[in-house]
Amino acid sequence: MQELDAEIRFGVRRLCERFGNAYWRALDEQQAYPDTFVQAMTEAGYLATLLPENYGGSGLGIREASIILEEINRSGGNAAVCHAQMYIMGTLLRHGSDEQKQHYLPDIATGNLRLQAFGITEPDAGSDTSSIRTTAHRQGNEYIVNGQKIWTSRVQYSDLMLLLARTTPLDQVKKRTDGLSLLLLDLRTAVGNGLTIKPIRTMINHHTAEVFFDNLPVPAANLIGEEGKGFRYLLDSLNAERILIAAESVGDGYWFVERTQAYARQRVVFGRPIGQNQGIQFPLAQAYIHLQAADLMRYRAAELFDRGEQCGAEANMAKLLAADAAWEAANVALQTHGGFGFAAEYDIERKFRETRLYQVAPISTNLILAYIAQHVLDLPRSY
Ligand SMILES: Cc1cc2nc3c(=O)[nH]c(=O)nc-3n(C[C@H](O)[C@H](O)[C@H](O)COP(=O)(O)OP(=O)(O)OC[C@H]3O[C@@H](n4cnc5c(N)ncnc54)[C@H](O)[C@@H]3O)c2cc1C
Repeated sequence: MQELDAEIRFGVRRLCERFGNAYWRALDEQQAYPDTFVQAMTEAGYLATLLPENYGGSGLGIREASIILEEINRSGGNAAVCHAQMYIMGTLLRHGSDEQKQHYLPDIATGNLRLQAFGITEPDAGSDTSSIRTTAHRQGNEYIVNGQKIWTSRVQYSDLMLLLARTTPLDQVKKRTDGLSLLLLDLRTAVGNGLTIKPIRTMINHHTAEVFFDNLPVPAANLIGEEGKGFRYLLDSLNAERILIAAESVGDGYWFVERTQAYARQRVVFGRPIGQNQGIQFPLAQAYIHLQAADLMRYRAAELFDRGEQCGAEANMAKLLAADAAWEAANVALQTHGGFGFAAEYDIERKFRETRLYQVAPISTNLILAYIAQHVLDLPRSY
């Protein structure tokens, strides 16, 4: 396992060397999508890591996938541009029909089809997913979709989108999470035929958008699994997402620590390197310790996930610890770099903005705390 990890790290690192910090900085300035980078990752087979070999993938686990994404962020890049393919395809793989898998997965593995977008969040529901209002009504061989999603990332750079919609009204279900279904949309035909995309400008280069559905017809054959069970199918993918994003945050954290070590050694003020001062050393050492602890929880969650065991608590804890550790390291990096931390050419301010996202998305810190309080500590549900 150690040998495979090292091989993957080496390969991704080498690929990322072709896309240095200047590449990501220019994209950030132009709010542009890194097509060439995503293409290179696809051609190297990294984005198909989790797909079984018979569909053209490598048949590896979430541990290996997480190392790939960690290395992208550790190189100064941003794995958010392509991470969703890894966890969305898991839903299709585990809950799609044989026909759907044969139809889509080999093309996803080669990059002929991009499955980079998923629409769960809505403006009026927020973290309360069971309150979503987008509906899909069955009419003959089709579902007719109406409603709106927000923060649907990469939708403009994807061919397919996984959509969560209500197929049974909330007042007709026993559990609030029942009656939700997953549909695979083909964006190539949907855009302009009932689906409209409105990009959202954000403080980071994230290619996210609002998506509006106005009587969008979707073939009933594109329903994933059984109608009404979509929320349950999503749960596996959400754990995968938490673990992968924990790894990205760990990658960010190491990037900040490594940059800061180097800077603190060479920056001389008052006749000595600033790194000789405990006021500079200690916050960095503290951030490094927290990062190491988060990294261990990420491997623990990945191990459980890959063994097919329950990992909801560990995946959530890994995501919280890693997002916090990366943010701590980001603050230390900015402080240690003094004024230069604010200069775009040092990349600290870019990564600082990027890493902040993971305390809010894909699940905010408070909701993780509420999950642990309820499901691990057996306290009454607070929301
Ligand atoms: C850049 C970006 C990209 C994203 N990409 C996607 C995507 O591709 N697909 C997708 O579906 N979604 C995406 N999201 C949405 C993301 O998952 C949500 O923003 C996140 O889940 C939080 O939901 P919200 O923004 O509606 O916040 P809200 O639910 O409105 O919460 C606001 C604040 O209130 C707190 N809060 C809410 N309820 C409670 C409670 N009961 N107890 C304590 N605190 C509470 C939250 O913790 C948070 O701090 C993205 C978001 C961003 C910003």
